[in-house]
Amino acid sequence: MNTQLFDYDRQDAAGATCTAQAWAKVPAPLTVAQRDALKARAAQLLRDKGAVLVAHYYVDGDLQDLAWETGGIVSDSLEMARFGRDHAAQTLVVAGVRFMGESAKILSPEKRVLMPDLDATCSLDLGCPEAEFAAFCDAHPDRTVVVYANTSAAVKARADWMVTSSCALEIVSELKRRGEKILWAPDRHLGRYIQEQTGADMLMWNGACIVHDEFKGLELDLLREQHPEAMILVHPESPKGVVDKAHVVGSTSALIKAVVEGSAREYIVATDNGILHRMRQLAPGKTLIEAPTAGNSATCKSCAHCPWMAMNGLQGVVDSLEQGLGEIHVQEPVRGKALACIERMLDFTAALKARAAQATKTPHVPHMGAV
Ligand code: SF4
Repeated sequence: MNTQLFDYDRQDAAGATCTAQAWAKVPAPLTVAQRDALKARAAQLLRDKGAVLVAHYYVDGDLQDLAWETGGIVSDSLEMARFGRDHAAQTLVVAGVRFMGESAKILSPEKRVLMPDLDATCSLDLGCPEAEFAAFCDAHPDRTVVVYANTSAAVKARADWMVTSSCALEIVSELKRRGEKILWAPDRHLGRYIQEQTGADMLMWNGACIVHDEFKGLELDLLREQHPEAMILVHPESPKGVVDKAHVVGSTSALIKAVVEGSAREYIVATDNGILHRMRQLAPGKTLIEAPTAGNSATCKSCAHCPWMAMNGLQGVVDSLEQGLGEIHVQEPVRGKALACIERMLDFTAALKARAAQATKTPHVPHMGAV
């Protein structure tokens, strides 16, 4: 695998880490009465303003419940993009991180896109600055540029394809079939996993998710000794030493499906622990165990929860709708250029879905055999 090193600064000029700033903005825990009052207020505002809440699986459980209760959705980033584009509401409140709000705005420029906190970002987005990425692309003009959803609009504007973890394997397989060489950014773990699965020629950017990067293969082995029957579910943004131990590797949606449909009683889950809320709702009888980020090989920052996802709260939804705070803008021509790579992915996945639906409808013709 070719690896291009592009490490990013973890500190700003004042010496503060991005994550420390994010944790400082995480809303304080609410009492039951406060939570109920804020939920009711947010639901009323969503109705009054003709808005819909589009939330990611990693955000606070109260926000997830509010989304379902008000006709919105909780999903992975691919489905969030589709849902926001296709919904009739003219205001989308996106509970997640900034690139998700930007994707919604890129796809629906006529809609108002609000976020509970515009400072909610992502280490993958931070770790792939536009200028350095453009230089990387310029140095490899023979390669098809494939970027993960977790990037800025400006980075997407330089790309040929956007992918999410739920469609990256299929899209890279297709590009390999066409004989194309790939420039991949920004997640090195997901890129390595896709490269191993497809055998595609991929030149990698060196980004990582600060949450998944912390899962520990060594401690996972120790945990598995205590739960030998548990099924291990791993998001492919995790390091190889963790992915290699998985029974299921997949996107957030794929991991939820594995819990719902799996025959095991116990599941060790290696992704952001915000996902456990939805897993518990859909598979109440099953035991869910967080994969280890602590232990002898841990660092003090290990915790399996994204500080930027944690910045989203009920108060932020209320403030965005009441005061118009947190509005996303994506200027032209960046928006138009970024749209092309997102639409290419959406068209590809829609065609895949249609083919799968057609295949299940096609009547089975019994094999006549050689007589
Ligand atoms: S969990 Fe990781 S990939 Fe997702 S938003 Fe947070 S830092 Fe980014």
